[in-house]
Amino acid sequence: MRTSRRKFLAVTAAAAASAVAPIGASPRPSPAPADIRRLTSPGFLDLQVNGFAGVDFNDPATTVDDLQRALGVLRAHGVTRLLPTLITSSAERFGQCASILLQAKADAIAGIHMEGPYISPEDGPRGAHPREHCAPASIDDFKRRQDSAAGRIRLVTLAPEVPGALPLTEYLRANGVRVAIGHTGATAEVIRDAVKAGATLSTHLGNGCANIIPRHPNFIWEQLAADELMASLIVDGHHLPPSTVKAMVRAKTPRRTILVTDAIAAAGQPPGDYQLAGVRVRLDETGRVAVPGAPNLAGSALAMDRAVANTVRFAGVPLEDALAMASTNPSTYLGIQPSGTLHLEWDADTFTLRVAAVA
Ligand SMILES: [Zn+2]
Repeated sequence: MRTSRRKFLAVTAAAAASAVAPIGASPRPSPAPADIRRLTSPGFLDLQVNGFAGVDFNDPATTVDDLQRALGVLRAHGVTRLLPTLITSSAERFGQCASILLQAKADAIAGIHMEGPYISPEDGPRGAHPREHCAPASIDDFKRRQDSAAGRIRLVTLAPEVPGALPLTEYLRANGVRVAIGHTGATAEVIRDAVKAGATLSTHLGNGCANIIPRHPNFIWEQLAADELMASLIVDGHHLPPSTVKAMVRAKTPRRTILVTDAIAAAGQPPGDYQLAGVRVRLDETGRVAVPGAPNLAGSALAMDRAVANTVRFAGVPLEDALAMASTNPSTYLGIQPSGTLHLEWDADTFTLRVAAVA
């Protein structure tokens, strides 16, 4: 660190305040050019995006033009590929939303992440997913949804304790669809069974669960310790405390960590009320998104460039490691190539990452 301790403390405080600032907040004054490091990175691949820039991917009324506009704003934040994420809903609504995503014919869309409906119906692990559409896992139901998505579902998040989840996990693995554990209240034993059946990812580890759980064993420790599982984390400063991010990255190692935003339509927008799959959610001035009056978070207003910068600050990893968590790690996980090259500017004093150009 080049700066004096006093200056360091000052900028750390400023960065702490800015880490959770809504996207689109007034930019800070540009630092002197000598403080800026310029570098390139493969484009970001976000495995979990429910919407962005006022557009809800989970709304059947969304148009292809809306979608293209959201993809353009995501690209400006470095996301050149993504898995639009469709959360728990009826098969009919899922099919309607999937068909809009497919009509976009955008290279940026690397497939669909189906998060639910085979998740815990319990308050807490269910999060903001509508209870009435939470359902036991069923190969037949999945096949119907996969047909309606023209075979583009690449990732399924499920709770392994839900009836039918383990046979479905085996079926998905055999058919090249990745399986993630999430929105779960499973015992540690059932987590191990899910890994044996073919689960390979923990979805937003540490979120989508009850507030109070047994200290140990529990499903968080079991997933942290399972080297077969990669883990996705939402590093917005709201979903996980900085010390939890640091401990999780160290337990999983940077190579097994994937950054996701879990962004919803409120991302890139001013504070106010937005929709997530027909549920009203509120973005407050601190950048937190929740159902009004409910304790659960409901997705995020995070952009991936900010997630990378936060990860450097919270976990103390080199910038290159955090960039890999947003680009090559998720690409390798899906078995595809990253797309495009990002030209980046990094200010290590203020933990600010700027996407200068996307080629
Ligand atoms: Zn979730």
